[in-house]
Amino acid sequence: MSIKHKIISYILTILLITVPFVFAGCSETNEGEIIPSQVPVLTNALIQDLSPALTDALTQDLTSTPTLTPTPTNTLSPALTPTPTNTLSPALTPTPAKALTPSKTPYPTNTLTPTPANTLTPTATNTPNSETGIISTYIDIPIEEAKGFICLNPGHQHNSNTEQEPDGPGSSVTKKKVSYGAAGELSGRESVLNLKVALILRNILGERGYKVLLTRETEMINISNIERAQIANENNCDLLIHLHHNSSSNEAKKGAETICATKNNPYHPELYNDSSLLAKLVIDAVCEKTEFVNKGVYYSDTYTGINWSCVPVIFTELGYLSNAEDDAYLANDDNIYLMCEGIANGIDAYFKQKTE
Ligand SMILES: [Zn+2]
Repeated sequence: MSIKHKIISYILTILLITVPFVFAGCSETNEGEIIPSQVPVLTNALIQDLSPALTDALTQDLTSTPTLTPTPTNTLSPALTPTPTNTLSPALTPTPAKALTPSKTPYPTNTLTPTPANTLTPTATNTPNSETGIISTYIDIPIEEAKGFICLNPGHQHNSNTEQEPDGPGSSVTKKKVSYGAAGELSGRESVLNLKVALILRNILGERGYKVLLTRETEMINISNIERAQIANENNCDLLIHLHHNSSSNEAKKGAETICATKNNPYHPELYNDSSLLAKLVIDAVCEKTEFVNKGVYYSDTYTGINWSCVPVIFTELGYLSNAEDDAYLANDDNIYLMCEGIANGIDAYFKQKTE
């Protein structure tokens, strides 16, 4: 009820009590009856009795209204804004699932796969030799499937070894373990040229079905002439071919030759027939393929690399680096390839004769 309505209702009740006395007169004086002279006193008493209730009602109405104005909805709303869902969500982001995923990547299968594959692949496929630049296409052949097992020894090495070793088993004659070798003005150091020939020849022989073993594939090595022969012995090779080029103080000397032991070799005379056959077939095949003058076979029992070999063995001395013509010829890679084809043809001819 509003204040206005309350006031009106109070006034109406006062009038209802007082008006009958004013208009009806005061004829009766019974006990409890109201005398007209008592009316103002009564109204005052009524007002006095009603006033606290009225003021209470009024104050209640007035005080209650301001309490409603600051709606609690506003004060509650900020309390709702920091929803606990947001605070929980970051706790969910560092999921342990992410921490588990990297453990899957280093599969142990990866570490296992390369090892057997690498050991089976040929030793020097598609990797150019650091000293000669030759890319080897050589494919290793199982010994039981090979036409023959050839040991190629590229003569000399980067540094000579002046220590002495006997030139044959039990011999009192000693020689340098490794000499420096020759050098050509255009074709360069003999040791590097010998290695180049060995790598190209290995490719050709591999393509023709031979198994090939090199005593060295780098210049930076130290193996004596005895040790080189022993590599062929220990590996049971069919042939040992020492690859060299000649040199002389006489610059006019030119041409190619092969070297093998005499039939009276004190160490391995039993190898003479095979070694001399190989020596003859190789020099003829090389000179047929190249422009070298054929100097034939030179027989000697003073070569450490021959005397220590237990398998048929020859030296190739293909051209004189001291001769301008031979030097220029060997400076051309196409000629070196022809020369290698010639050596391979000689080896083919040897095995052909041996199997007939
Ligand atoms: Zn030499």
